[in-house]
This record gives sequence, C-alpha cells and structure tokens, in this order.
Amino acid sequence: MTKYILKNDLILNFSSYMANLYGDEKVLYIVDENVYNLYKSIFDVESSNVFLYVVNSGEESKNLDVVLSIYDFLVENNFNRYSYIVAVGGGVVGDLSGYVASTYMRGINLIHIPTTLLSMVDSSIGGKTAVNHSKYKNIIGSFYNAKYVIVDINFLKTLDDENFKQGISEIIKIAVLKDKKLFDFLSKNKLSIDSKELSDVIKRAQDLKISVVSKDALDRGERLSLNFGHTFGHAIESSSDLSVTHGIAVAKGMLIMSDLAYGNGLIDKDIYLEIKKAIDKQEIDTNFEVDMLKLISYIKKDKKVKNGVINFVIASDIGSYFIYEEKFENLENFVYMPYSKKIKFKDKLKPNDLDLPNSKSYNHRAILSAIALKKKVRVINPQACIDTFATKQFALDLGYSVSNDENYIVDGTKKNNKTKNKINCFESASTLRMAIPFSLLLENDITFYGKGSLVTRPLTSYIDFFDKNEVDYEYSEKLPITIKGKYDFDFIEIDGSLSSQFVSGMIYYMVSRGRGKIRINGEIASKDYIKMTIDTLNLLGVDIYMEKNDITVNGVNVCDSENVIDYKVEKDYSNSAFFIVYGILNDGITIKGLNENSLQADRKIIDICKSFGADLRFDKDVLYVKKSKLKGTSVDVSTCPDIAIPICLLASFSSGVSEITGIERLKIKESDRVKSTVDTLLKLGANISSTEKSIIIKGVETFKPVRVSSYNDHRIAMMLAVASSRVNGCVEILNSDCVEKSYKNFFKDLEKLGGIYSVQ
Ligand code: NAD
Repeated sequence: MTKYILKNDLILNFSSYMANLYGDEKVLYIVDENVYNLYKSIFDVESSNVFLYVVNSGEESKNLDVVLSIYDFLVENNFNRYSYIVAVGGGVVGDLSGYVASTYMRGINLIHIPTTLLSMVDSSIGGKTAVNHSKYKNIIGSFYNAKYVIVDINFLKTLDDENFKQGISEIIKIAVLKDKKLFDFLSKNKLSIDSKELSDVIKRAQDLKISVVSKDALDRGERLSLNFGHTFGHAIESSSDLSVTHGIAVAKGMLIMSDLAYGNGLIDKDIYLEIKKAIDKQEIDTNFEVDMLKLISYIKKDKKVKNGVINFVIASDIGSYFIYEEKFENLENFVYMPYSKKIKFKDKLKPNDLDLPNSKSYNHRAILSAIALKKKVRVINPQACIDTFATKQFALDLGYSVSNDENYIVDGTKKNNKTKNKINCFESASTLRMAIPFSLLLENDITFYGKGSLVTRPLTSYIDFFDKNEVDYEYSEKLPITIKGKYDFDFIEIDGSLSSQFVSGMIYYMVSRGRGKIRINGEIASKDYIKMTIDTLNLLGVDIYMEKNDITVNGVNVCDSENVIDYKVEKDYSNSAFFIVYGILNDGITIKGLNENSLQADRKIIDICKSFGADLRFDKDVLYVKKSKLKGTSVDVSTCPDIAIPICLLASFSSGVSEITGIERLKIKESDRVKSTVDTLLKLGANISSTEKSIIIKGVETFKPVRVSSYNDHRIAMMLAVASSRVNGCVEILNSDCVEKSYKNFFKDLEKLGGIYSVQ
C-alpha cells in the first residue's frame, strides 16, 4: 500500500526527512535535469549511502537505453533488494524510475517526489510505470506501487505556466468525473501557484484519483473512466507530432467528446458548456481546429481498442460518467453528426387516407420465392424501402431480371451468366440470411457484405452448419463472408434457435433443388416467420409442409413457366404497430387493409394491445382503434421481437407495472434494443429498467421534450416519433432517416396524424 504524504516543508528539511524513511539503505535519487539545476542544494551527496542519477529533461529519457544505463549504475554500486529509488521530477522521471524500481532485482523500494502539477495529481498515483518504444508511447511498463508519494507544492514555484496547465487539465478531468464541488470551484476561480486553495485542490484531486485506482488496480474497470478526454486527446497529440501538449490535448479531447455525445443525443448540451467554461476559466487554449478524419484514423490504432469497438468515456453530468461503446464501422457516423428531425404534435388528426406500408417480410419472400421456384412472380403492393431494395438487388446480382414497374415482376425463369461474386446486403439481415443458401447452389465463390449493425450480427446457425457439413467458407466473426463451391444436400439439420431467417434460407435452397428435408434443431425461434415462408411458397404452388421440427419439400415443379403469377403483399403489422399504439395513446385511429387473419408474427400486436385493455376492433379489413385506458400487464415478446419497442411505449402509459419478457433476441437487432429502448424511454421520462430477462415499466402520465439518438435503429426512431405525440413540446430525433430501412414514408404518414417535423 502506498502512503501519500502532503508535506509543504519538504524542501526545507529534505535530507533529514528522507533519511528517516530509508535509514542506512542505499538510495538512488533519479532526478530530472531541470529540477536538479534548480534544487541541487537539497540533495545530501555527502552521505555514503546516497547516490544521484540525473536524467535529461523530456520525454526522450523514457526509453530502454536510459533504463539499461541506470541498471549498470545500480549494479556497479551494489544496490540490493532493500535499496531505494527516489524519483524527483515530473511524470517522465516518475514513469522511468518506477519501471527501473519494479524490474531491478524483481522490485526494490520506490519513493515518488513529484515536482510538476501533473505528476502530483496524476502520474505518481496508481502504480503505472512506463518507458516508450521507438514507435509507441508508454508501451513497455508495469504496475508497481511506490512506498511513499511525497508532495511539496513549493516545487511548483519554479514550474512554467505551460506545464502548470498540463496538471490543471487533469484536475478538471477528475473533477468532471467525480466531484461537482471541485469542478464548480475550478469554473469560478483561476488556479495559480499563488492560490491559497492550491494545496487543498491538489489534495482533493489526489484523493479522487486514489479512490479510483484503489478500486481497480489493474486498469480493467473504473480506472477506464480516467480516459475521459484521452481518446481524442491522444489522437490530437499524436496527429500533431506532439506539438500540442498532453494537457491541452486532453482538455480539447474532453470538449470534443462532450460535443459529440451531445450531437449524438447522449447528453445535454449544458455539460459541454460547463466543461468549456471551466477550461476557459483556467485559460487553457482549446480554440484550435482539428481534422476529425485524421483523429479517427489514430483512434482506430489506439491500444485500448478491442474487437473493433471503442469505449468512449462520456460525462453524463458533472460528477458522473458512463462508458459508451461504438463500433469502428459507426465511428464516422458518430463523428459526423447525423441529420435530425424535430417533431411536434400540434393537433391530433384522424386521416382517412392513411396508407400504411406493406409487409417487408412477405416482400422479401416473394422475390426469393420467384428465383427459388424459377417462376415469374409479379410482386403486387411491394414495400419500397432499403431492405427490400437489397433483396431485389440480390436477385439482379444473381443474374435474374426484375422489371421497373411499380408492381414489379421478378423473372426467375431466366438467369444470365453474369452472376456477381460480391453481394451487398446493405443493412438487411433478412436479405443476408435468406440469400446465403442460394450461394450453395453455385459453383463460383460468392462474398456477402453489408454495412452498419449488419456487419456484426450473428451468423452462428450457418457457421455451425458449414463446419459440420464441410462447406468451404471464409468468415471471421463479422462480414464479409465468402462461400466457396456448390453443394448438394438432400437432408439438412440446422440450429433454429437464433433466427428463423436461417431456416427460411435453407427452405429456399431445398425448393431450388426441387426436393429435400430440413430438420430444425433446438427450440425454433420465431416459428411464425417460417410459417410465412411456407405460406408464400404454398400460395405460389409449392408442395411443402412442416411437421414438428421437420420441413419437407415434395416434388416442386421447377420447370420454366411463361405465366406470371401475381403475389399480393399484405399490409405490414410491425410498422402498423406504431400507428396502432399512437391511436390508443391519443384520439384513436382507423387503419385500412390489415389482414385480420394474417400469419405475420407481429399480428400479435392486436392481442397484446387488448391485454393492456385497449379497445381494438376489426370490421372486415378495417381496424378501428380507440383511445383507451390501459393497465399494465406481462407480455412475452420472444416470438414477435420486432413489436417489443411499441409495446414498451404502450406500457409506459399503462397504470401499474408491466413486464416484457422474452427479450433475449432484442439484443442482436439493429441496435441492442433492450439498451436503446430503456435509454431512450428513460430520457423521455418513462419509469423503465431492465434485467437480464425482462424490461420492467411503471406507467407515467406524460413525457418531456428531449433531444435523443435513434441509435441508428429504424424502430427506435419510429417509437420516438410516436412518443412525441405525448410530449408537450418537441422531440428531436438524431439520425431519424434510419426509418428508411423499412418505411420510407414514415414521417410523411406521421404528418397526416398532425406530427409536424422540421429537419435540423
Ligand atoms: P515532465 O516530467 O516532462 O515535466 C515537464 C517539464 O517540467 C520538464 O521540462 C521538467 O524538466 C520540468 N520540471 C519538472 N519539475 C519542475 C519544477 N519543479 N520546476 C521547473 N521545472 C520543472 O512532464 P509531466 O507533465 O510531469 O509528465 C508527463 C509524463 O507523465 C508523460 O511521459 C506521461 O506519459 C506520463 N504520465 C504517466 C502517468 C502514469 O499514470 N504513470 C499518468 C499521466 C502521465
């Protein structure tokens, strides 16, 4: 355990005080050259056990050559395991001496006497030692605790202003993270060597850092918070070839981080403004431009980056913080703040011409069925959105033609020889997962790639299947995936527990071959979606049936046919769910065209809403939704995860407590929907929390205006837009255009309800 001592008369009694600590043991003072020149007289070089080693000032001294020459010195002078090393200087000498002390004879006694503000409040605390490699800073080091850290603030009287500010920057950082009182003081008082509060400020900053490192000695948990401002700070330092000093870079880094966090809807603007105020008060100049693209390229090389994810430390308020994980592929998006839409409901309208979208799921299936069956299928009422565009494009890339009509014809009868070997699935998991098995029917290698969250969404069921069945492929936990060669399987066993899309994909494989059997192992996820695939194929004339966990494809007629089969895509329940919830929470709504007897898994929204007490009634193909008094209940969304988000919104306005269970698969959607739903609803003022297994919601009366991230997730954006109907004021949704993934005209339809939006 390190003993931290604040002793503001150390310089005056240096030799006698120090001699009391190390007694007769040999001691080597490793001293910064500038410090030595200024404080030469304090060292008692007369004593036979006292030795001096002066190192050049500056970062260049933190290297292995200097370490080796100190080892030589220690060996030549017979230093043993009981001897002492005393570091007298700033962080450079502290890091270097710590490394020597931790390695010489597997560790000898170490004392720090920090002489810069930064080393007093930061580098001498927590036991990190380091020297630099020619290419990377601080990459060689150890954790090694000093016996004593002794601070005398009088050393600071000779420190220049620039170096004083390096320390202030770290004090502001720890205050932002941990201590509002200290922060407020720094916002109002310019600190200088003459400030009478300096000693107290140093002591407080030390204590704060000690409390963090004592809970996390090895830098695995809370200590990560100390990186606040450092992710961008290090990038600024490195990209400027160190012409921007560390403290200035950290100050700028804190501001960039807070500005981006605000820009992405994660925190209030006030936090950025408050931090800026403190930095300005301390006269730390952060008014210089940085090249964000350059910074991102440095951040991607950061040694703290793991598995393609960067952990940003963000101050959520003064005195608290959170860690925000951002994937590499989203970094540019995060940095170049997305467009946002501000939504405000003035009136609650009841339009008659609401034309809600058609089913994306059935649309994908109609296209894929046409090419699996080798028939001409006219897709009537297609759903125009980016996801279905991806599937249409897949058919084209394989060499099939798709007409340009509004109700387009997918011609599976003729395939040209121009199959592309690279397929872009954009962000559509349905396209990717249902298209992959088509590549098993082709000789050539096919690579599937995509963007955004799709890149890392799991393909486990296929990977297991490929490994067991010796399918040749290349994949390393994220897209792209390349499948090599043609395979002829009559019987397939596949794990159906993760996603029904794998099973549907394999059904298309069997249908393309004309026959075959699929056995689904494990519990079948979203069985209704598999039924939808079978239903579409049945309608198009395929003899296919499912019995328990076995799906059998019997004698499909795969010969060419000139007849065009019309396939009418029905209205979509997943997207309609948002409007149904809107109607219940406001003055009701009438929705035309929904199939009351649909097989869509998300048709469950009707029964679920009723279980909350909502008044819904079908009359032929018209759904009448009335404003309803709601009571909280328990809902299992395991078979209909896509409607979990509007259900959480409904529960937020239901009296009592609701519990949403079956949420496991929500975590692997466009965003981690448990986190994104809870976070966004909390910001709106909901009373919501989550456990591993469920989301718990207590009803509230109203929501408040907010500026919030959509997490780049179309369903979160739609929920926020509908939620704004219960807000007295505006809801600003960042990256609101992500709705186009599934519902291009969403905001236009919202406008018909009275939701006026403006683009920011
Ligand atoms: P530094 O040690 O280079 O000192 C800065 C300058 O101040 C030097 O020119 C030095 O000669 C001079 N100086 C020191 N004391 C003086 C005094 N009393 N009067 C006049 N001049 C004085 O720099 P620093 O800012 O103290 O430390 C930076 C180093 O600390 C970096 O190498 C960094 O990697 C390291 N660091 C380590 C940790 C850790 O946890 N181990 C944390 C932060 C920083």
